[in-house]
Amino acid sequence: MEDCIFCKIANGTIGSNTVYEDEDFRAIMDIAPAAMGHVIILPKAHAANVFEIDEELYGKGMKLAKKLAAAVKQATGCEGINVLQNNGTAAGQTVFHLHIHIVPRYDEDTVNVKWKPMSPAAEELAAMCEKIRNEI
Ligand code: 5GP
Ligand code: ZN
Repeated sequence: MEDCIFCKIANGTIGSNTVYEDEDFRAIMDIAPAAMGHVIILPKAHAANVFEIDEELYGKGMKLAKKLAAAVKQATGCEGINVLQNNGTAAGQTVFHLHIHIVPRYDEDTVNVKWKPMSPAAEELAAMCEKIRNEI
């Protein structure tokens, strides 16, 4: 992907603050962090989102997220961590090369990943459950 900024960063064409690198991934400091210590994990192979990425590679990325979450917690002394991975504009994705966010959290911080809970009827929930089950 010639025009993909995360391809260039992941593969080292553009420099970055790299906290970790292996043959499949580069993990870097987010340039506009939600909180200090915000790291993003970039696969070196381009995939736009969870639907496109190789299943094995996605699993490896999540395994790496666990390792780096521990390092970020130790380094920042944060009280919590959000591991986030946005897919599609509606989900807040702004760079269309899949990446996993590791966001350190504090009891009183300005990060907002909250939603207003719905109160669906039991039949509605069961119907959606069935619909999803049928797609697996
Ligand atoms: P998204 O909203 O797509 O899930 O997240 C994109 C993230 O990439 C944002 O947190 C944004 O700050 C970060 N970002 C965008 N461009 C760059 C860049 O050139 N370098 C780095 N290090 N982070 C970037
Ligand atoms: Zn890319």
